[in-house]
Amino acid sequence: MPPPISDCDPVTYATRHPVPMVRVRGSHYEMGRQVGVHRREVIHTTLGTYRGLFQSEAVRLQIYSWGEAILHARKYLPFAEESMPQYVEELRGVADGAGLDFNDLLVLNCMEAITEDALHRGCTSLAVSPELTAEGALLVGHNEDWLPEDFESVYLIHAQPDDEPAFLAITYGGLLPNIGFNQYGIAQCCDSVYPNDARIGVPRIFVSRAVLAARTPADAIKAALHRRRAAGYNHLIAHASGEIYNVEVSARDFELIYGLDGVVAHTNHYISRHMRAIERNSEELIGSRVRYNRALRLLHNQQGQVSRASIQTLLSDHVNFPESICNHVSLDDYPLDRQQTIAALVMDLTNLTLDVAWGTPCCSEYHTFRLDAPPLMNDER
Ligand SMILES: [Zn+2]
Repeated sequence: MPPPISDCDPVTYATRHPVPMVRVRGSHYEMGRQVGVHRREVIHTTLGTYRGLFQSEAVRLQIYSWGEAILHARKYLPFAEESMPQYVEELRGVADGAGLDFNDLLVLNCMEAITEDALHRGCTSLAVSPELTAEGALLVGHNEDWLPEDFESVYLIHAQPDDEPAFLAITYGGLLPNIGFNQYGIAQCCDSVYPNDARIGVPRIFVSRAVLAARTPADAIKAALHRRRAAGYNHLIAHASGEIYNVEVSARDFELIYGLDGVVAHTNHYISRHMRAIERNSEELIGSRVRYNRALRLLHNQQGQVSRASIQTLLSDHVNFPESICNHVSLDDYPLDRQQTIAALVMDLTNLTLDVAWGTPCCSEYHTFRLDAPPLMNDER
């Protein structure tokens, strides 16, 4: 674990070290195996964290043993195996590489579904089209807010699959990667949303993993709307051409919100009136609304001069602290409810670079990574 810096917020993790990156290539199984070998230690640590949470929060989660959690997770597996076996293979590879039982890893990758979103989490995503950025690049920003305990298990995957586009994405603790971009200039950020129509189906992480293989904006949106999906995220999907969408998804419904004015943001509530009709506990999502409005206003204030540096600054914003865009731990919360920004990302889809700050970006330092693959556009397939 990197040494957390101490001159910032003493209860929130951050470090000036670069986040680790694993380079993998080959079949899906082989890529997963390489990830498992390289990140074996943190994957085991994460598993221990969640086993402990299941034990201490059994009543709230209404799951009374790890074995019961596995039984729940196994119900989702046939749907994933039927429609995207390559990503099941990827996960099997991670399990084998890390020396873990596949079922344990499956639980981690079905966590949102089997806990019925008891782990309420925030995230902030945004994108700006090239005509509104100082250097004419399409820029995407994302703060990944999750359990503070997962800070240490964050890493990047630089992947060259045999049969799909190369991608650069962030993940943590043995989850399939879903936040990043590929060599076709398609980027995805995922924000948790809370619909009331969840069902047994393809888990959200598998559905969103498939988006990273898309070659066109329509391919990406169709992947997010897999007909057997168990529930949904908001998928912020951006393309280097300047096309940007929020794809608000639930198990049975969706809404596309197009970024016509070139500036898009999303947090954890449904923006469209249509989807809000099926949102659970909307009154608990006021903090999400404040972050959303704040992010949009900060982008609009930049009057067409948005840059990587200005997005980095925006992601460190503390208005409405600790529930701010740069999200900090509140010790008043129960352990299961604590969250913080565990990684902040700025993607440049024009130049295929990714700036990553590990932990809350106000206290950490951005490091730049690059996707080492030739940029491809749709007509070069
Ligand atoms: Zn902060």
